[in-house]
Amino acid sequence: MKDFLVYGHKTAARLAFHVLDWNEEQTKEFVNSIINAKKNLKYCSKCFNITDTDPCPICANPKRAQDSICVVEDVRDVVAMERTHEFKGVYHVLHGSISPMNGIGPDDIKIKELLARLMGGNIKEVILATNPRVEGEATAMYLSKLIKPLGIKVSRIAHGIPVGGDLEYTDEVTLTKALEGRREM
Ligand SMILES: [Zn+2]
Repeated sequence: MKDFLVYGHKTAARLAFHVLDWNEEQTKEFVNSIINAKKNLKYCSKCFNITDTDPCPICANPKRAQDSICVVEDVRDVVAMERTHEFKGVYHVLHGSISPMNGIGPDDIKIKELLARLMGGNIKEVILATNPRVEGEATAMYLSKLIKPLGIKVSRIAHGIPVGGDLEYTDEVTLTKALEGRREM
């Protein structure tokens, strides 16, 4: 069910073809599973990823480096990063990017919450993995200026990702290279 929620339109199209073949019982089962998923889904209180447990499985995993935070714009970007199997830290989902044109300022996304996490202690590195678009770059610059004075290493993922591109639709190899080639800000 969650896969359907995070993988987007291609999966939705594939699913639509399956639905055509279902009998009434199978269709009801599917509808119920959507209702249940919606009931149980919430945002992780630490990283704001979508989850059915709080904290989410990534935040709760003792094998993940809790002192390394990868900042992304959207929950779908977490899925994209996880597909690379390269990043062993935890995430922070901003739920958007700073976009004055659209009236979205720093207070409209989860920046306060990120700073609270950083103030909470023991964070060694913040990797800014916002999308390489004007808004994503502006958000990365803004965050870098806020975070660096805290004495935390701030890096930005490299530009293997096409400018104007989207993490969600970037292949694993490019995204892995972008993560490896991140530069300190
Ligand atoms: Zn979490």
